[in-house]
This record gives sequence, C-alpha cells and structure tokens, in this order.
Amino acid sequence: MQEHQQQQPKSPLPPRSPYQARARSTSDDWAERGAAVHVQREADANGNVQTKTIKKGVKDFTFGRILGEGSFSTVVAATDRQTLREYAIKILDKRHIIKEKKVKYVNIEKNTLNRLGDHPGIVRLYYTFQDERSLYFVLDLAPNGELFSVLKKLGTLNMECTQYYGAQLLDAVGYMHDHGVIHRDLKPENILLDENMRIKVTDFGTAKLLSMQKSVNGTTGASSDNISGIPIEDDRSNSFVGTAEYVPPELLTDKAAGRSSDIWAIGCILYQLLCGKPPFKASNEYQTFQKIIKLEYSFPALFSPVARDLVSHLLLTDPSKRLTIEQIKAHPFFADVEFGPALWSRKSPRLVPNSILAGVK
Ligand code: ATP
Repeated sequence: MQEHQQQQPKSPLPPRSPYQARARSTSDDWAERGAAVHVQREADANGNVQTKTIKKGVKDFTFGRILGEGSFSTVVAATDRQTLREYAIKILDKRHIIKEKKVKYVNIEKNTLNRLGDHPGIVRLYYTFQDERSLYFVLDLAPNGELFSVLKKLGTLNMECTQYYGAQLLDAVGYMHDHGVIHRDLKPENILLDENMRIKVTDFGTAKLLSMQKSVNGTTGASSDNISGIPIEDDRSNSFVGTAEYVPPELLTDKAAGRSSDIWAIGCILYQLLCGKPPFKASNEYQTFQKIIKLEYSFPALFSPVARDLVSHLLLTDPSKRLTIEQIKAHPFFADVEFGPALWSRKSPRLVPNSILAGVK
C-alpha cells in the first residue's frame, strides 16, 4: 500500500481552505451516499468476464494546487490515490448554486459531458460525486492552461499554429455537433491545452443538447431542425448565453442559436488567433452587439488572403450561408492538414506569433 493512502489528504492549500476542511469532515454517510458508482467488466486470464464495482468519492483523491476559479466553482488538481493518475476536479458549492439558480447549468454540463464521452479534443468527465456541501466533477487535467493565456502572452499566433489549433477545434466541434451538442460559448478561454499542447474544449454549462433521433436507416443522429439542413435551436426561453464578443447575430436578433452559431464563434477565434483581438470588440457589450448586428469588422491590411477568405465565409449574418464543418475542412486554409486521428498524434508546432501582423491593432 502507498504510504499516502493511510494519511489524510495532503494539500498545499491553507488549512482553512473550505474543500480541504470538507474532505476531512466528509462523513461516512456521505462517502457512501455521495460516491460515484461504476460497474466495470473485465476479462480475466481465462477469458471469464468479471464484474467489478468501483466507488469513487472525495476520500479517493488527494487534492493539490488550484488550477483556476470560475463564478461558481474552484478547479483543483487531484490525484487518484489508487491509480496515482492526475485529474482536474471541479468543485461546486451546492448552496451557492441553488441560491443563484444555476442548478440547470450544472446539469447541462454533466449531461453534455456524459454524452460526449471520449474525444481527444474535449475534456472528459470521469466521475461525479458529492458530499454534504459540494459537487465534484472529475475531469481530464489540462496542465497547460487556456489558449487565451498563450494568446495573451504572444499577442498573436502565426499561420501554422492557427491552422493546427483551428483544425483541432474544428474536429472537436464537428464531433460535438454529430453528437447533438451545440457548445454556444466557444472562445479561447474555453480551449484548454493538455500536456502535449493539444486542445481540450471545456465549459459546457451553456451548451444545448439536441434530441437524438433514429433515422430511417436505424442509425442514431442529432435532430436536424431547419429547412436548409442547418439546425437552429429555438431558444426563446433563454436569455443571452455566451460571451459578448463571440455571440452570433441570430442570438441577438432572434434569440436562436444552432450549430452554425458555433461556426460563427470559430470564425471569431481564427480571426483573433491571427491578429490578437476578436473581430467585434467595443468598449461595452451594447456597442459590441451593435457591431455584430451590423457585421461591422475589418481585416488588417496584411491579413493573409486565404485566412481572410475563410473567415469572411464564417462571419456571415445569415447562419445558413456560413460554411459547414466539412466545407471548412476542405478550405485551402487547411490544405496541408490531415484530419482524423492523425490530427491528435501530430506534434504541436512551436508557438510563434504572427510576425506579419505584429503591432497591428
Ligand atoms: P465561469 O464559471 O465564470 O464561466 P469558468 O467556466 O472558467 O468560469 P471553470 O470551468 O470552473 O470556470 O474553470 C475555472 C478555471 O479553472 C478555468 O479558467 C481554467 O483555467 C481552469 N480549469 C478548468 N478546467 C480545467 C481542467 N480540466 N484542467 C485544467 N484547468 C482547468
């Protein structure tokens, strides 16, 4: 047995940190009631299938450094005491969530991540459990932080890096859409970087889950919900979701967002990676929205023509006119990219700013 298994969880956090105290005070009752239960089937040496029940709770992890804080959560690095595998655990305060009426968003995040399961470009949810005070989401650890921080440090990214990260984003979003998930808040802050500097899309709290329906040939697919085949989710019940700079015009005018709304956000992100700021940015949200509605943006003079062609076919007011994921993959901007599994084994490029646009603001 490992030495640390007999000890209380060690943490570099100050002794009065709430979740450290919580981990210590977790009652046996909650350890039992709140644990995640997984049934795992494994074949032994003779090929006989054995069923193992795995329970995971707060006591099974050693909590470490804080990775970041959200409005309703703290994300902490944690190690599974048994396997020694590292995860990121998102800890949410139950009372705070109920008080602020965010239960719906927590459920959306959990249901979405459960549906998306296993894609190399999407943060995976392994277990959820709870104790008296908190909910815990055990996620893939992305130790290299946010793509946003890289961008902040370098200012811009060159064509090679933008192509690399753009292609991974496209692949991850295509997978989400195929599984009936619209992210609705794609932005560099929600694109994390794993140990190999490959992306992991996160933050599904404002995602939209489309109902999955059986098609005539019996396969299951996400429902298509608009005449041109580009699904539009009527979301009138919702107020504004997302982040001002990346919000598509249809959400502002019709309160409707579909898969093509994520395509708009991809257009904003590609533009931002290459020139350091999102295409629609003003001193306040209202003015940003006005720019979006009027499609008021411009390209710096030295913006590469091929990138300009792609972005201008994504940032179109009419969602049905925007390129689809497949059309984007076929665009000359991604000419050198091999999509599919190769995308996730390719070495990440050295991070280099876009020297052509250096200083252009
Ligand atoms: P808000 O809830 O206000 O929108 P948020 O969505 O960024 O904020 P969280 O998802 O709780 O909130 O994440 C908080 C921070 O923790 C993030 O900014 C990110 O840097 C970090 N973080 C989140 N998930 C991971 C992860 N899987 N691996 C590494 N760091 C993470």
